[in-house]
Amino acid sequence: MLINPKMETLPRDELESLQLRRLQNVCARVYANVPFYRKRFDEVGIKPDDIHSLDDLKRLPFTEKQDLRDNFPFGLCAVPREHITRVQASSGTTGKAVALSYTQRDLDNWKECAARGMASCGITRQDTVHVAYGYGLFTGGLGMHGGADYIGAMVVPASGGATRRQVHLLQDFGSTVLCCTPSFAMHLYEVGMEEGIDFKELPLRLGIFGAEPWSEAMRREMEEKLGIDAMNVYGLSEIMGPGVAMECIHAKQGLHLWEDHFIPEIIDPVTGENLPAGEQGELVITTITKEGVPLIRYRTRDLTSIDDTPCSCGRTHVRITRIAGRTDDMLIIRGVNVFPQQIEEILMSSKGLSPNYQLIIEREKDLDTLEVRVEVNSDLFADEVRRIQDLEKNLQKTIKEYLGVTTRIRLMEPNSLERFSGKAQRVIDKRNLA
Ligand code: ADP
Ligand code: ZN
Repeated sequence: MLINPKMETLPRDELESLQLRRLQNVCARVYANVPFYRKRFDEVGIKPDDIHSLDDLKRLPFTEKQDLRDNFPFGLCAVPREHITRVQASSGTTGKAVALSYTQRDLDNWKECAARGMASCGITRQDTVHVAYGYGLFTGGLGMHGGADYIGAMVVPASGGATRRQVHLLQDFGSTVLCCTPSFAMHLYEVGMEEGIDFKELPLRLGIFGAEPWSEAMRREMEEKLGIDAMNVYGLSEIMGPGVAMECIHAKQGLHLWEDHFIPEIIDPVTGENLPAGEQGELVITTITKEGVPLIRYRTRDLTSIDDTPCSCGRTHVRITRIAGRTDDMLIIRGVNVFPQQIEEILMSSKGLSPNYQLIIEREKDLDTLEVRVEVNSDLFADEVRRIQDLEKNLQKTIKEYLGVTTRIRLMEPNSLERFSGKAQRVIDKRNLA
């Protein structure tokens, strides 16, 4: 189902001319109303009137997370205070949180974008949508809530935490859709098993998962265990919140990014040069309709690529591929670059392991060590020690082969690692590299 049939299927040439008009407009607005942008534009010698084509976007300066921190809380607002109707903040995964201000129209657009994605996964007003993302300043809960509301589905605003209770709520209300982080979904499933509630026997048929990186292997595992379609939602509070881009169930490959509101670019994170479609790099987004805090060429630090091939669902908006990691998540272990999801991918492909893992990095005598702690499934744990040792050896070998990094593997008892109701913390870096 399409929420906004005209916009979602707008032919590319019309979409691009709309983008250009909106880009010119947002540049004029930030130049006139945000001293920070006026200064930045002046520094590179560009005026809003100099934007004649989408290609001119490249000439504009980047905006970074630090700029939002430096201008905390309202320094980048482009409208007077009385037009702001909501404040949200990022979760602060990588440092001090940033605050974002929304006008009523921004909130309406956010709802529509989230709804478009949710509808593209097949959610209708017949559905009961259990939202277990945190509510509050973090955008996850209210964002998905808004989308489900727009569709007219029945919303269960469960928020994070209280895992046991949530499992029973899922059963009692007969929810058909679950929205949360992929790690929390697995935790709900585990607690369900303990409580004698098998997700496969619930009416639950769809999961909308995001807010943290997860792998294709994790998707397979979740679909099999929970008996659902596991769909990927991407978003960040700086740009709006969840729903900036979302997978459609038709193709289940790549996340449509709503280009009538956002212009995506992929750059080389080191040189800042633009990369062509298909190449992986850092996602940069320009918001072209936002009123509260419009962002020009915002560096998301998320790594992905753009797929501009037509999608079988008929939507004309480009897709971004599953987020491969964020530039600040990259671990450098004795000079080798590793992303946690690459390790996750390998762990998930081995039989007998659970999706609960943790990476512990330490420095011993000036050398980095990486310990991979991963819980085994209960059936394997009861098994002979010999098999466990073999599994450790094989994992170590596979990680070395694929990623070039030496690890120490520690298989852990089921349920021994910490569980998270929001974003999982997979990496513990004790090296003190600050
Ligand atoms: P932060 O975590 O930076 O404090 P947010 O709470 O706004 O701020 O979270 C946004 C970030 O979460 C994104 O920039 C991205 O790194 C991550 N994220 C969101 N959705 C996904 C997803 N589907 N896959 C991978 N990472 C995601
Ligand atoms: Zn599609």
